[in-house]
Amino acid sequence: MAETPPIKARERFLRSLGLRLIVGKPVRFFCTHCGKYIGGDMPWICGYCDFEHQSAIYYSVLNKCKNCKKRPRSVLCPHCDQTNFLDDKKDDWNPARRLGAPLVNEYETEVESKRTEERLKIKEDLKFKIEKAELRANLSRAEREIQSAKPQKPFSRTTLRESLAHREAMHIEVDRIVAEKKQDYAKHFAGNRTLLRKALEMLEQWREDEIRKNGL
Ligand SMILES: [Zn+2]
Ligand SMILES: [Zn+2]
Repeated sequence: MAETPPIKARERFLRSLGLRLIVGKPVRFFCTHCGKYIGGDMPWICGYCDFEHQSAIYYSVLNKCKNCKKRPRSVLCPHCDQTNFLDDKKDDWNPARRLGAPLVNEYETEVESKRTEERLKIKEDLKFKIEKAELRANLSRAEREIQSAKPQKPFSRTTLRESLAHREAMHIEVDRIVAEKKQDYAKHFAGNRTLLRKALEMLEQWREDEIRKNGL
């Protein structure tokens, strides 16, 4: 027997509508995409009003909605989720769909979830690479900005002299403070050689830091 496509199933169902309740046998049909069996008594949800048909012998997806009375023009396959048309209008708006969990088999689910996992990983990798590239671009842009922000004045005798004078003054002032402090510490820590040594070390460190800081 040839496998019944959905449109033929609808026609057959409507022709024998009166008999449905008496015979109680659903009209069977097969998905036009995956070829799998779909029962005319499949519990279904109306695509127009979302009414849930638990019992679908009379109010089959091949017939009409018990609530809004609209005839579904298409139904999503419970196996592959593809659209199957139920009449020749080829209208895939508001398709009817199976009520309950989809009938995707476990192997397919597993393969699909592995695929999803791989896709996510590839996406993550790409995202990381993009971020890295963006950061790198930002860094080189910032570096260029710093470069161009630096005054590009040519050296002149005057500026060099000024710079040297500044450094001389700074050195002299730092050394003067150090000398004063050395005397203070010597008096203050006269009885404690360890503390005196520590204070002098600290002072020397400060001198170096200040010279480095102000000598730029
Ligand atoms: Zn299918
Ligand atoms: Zn409805």
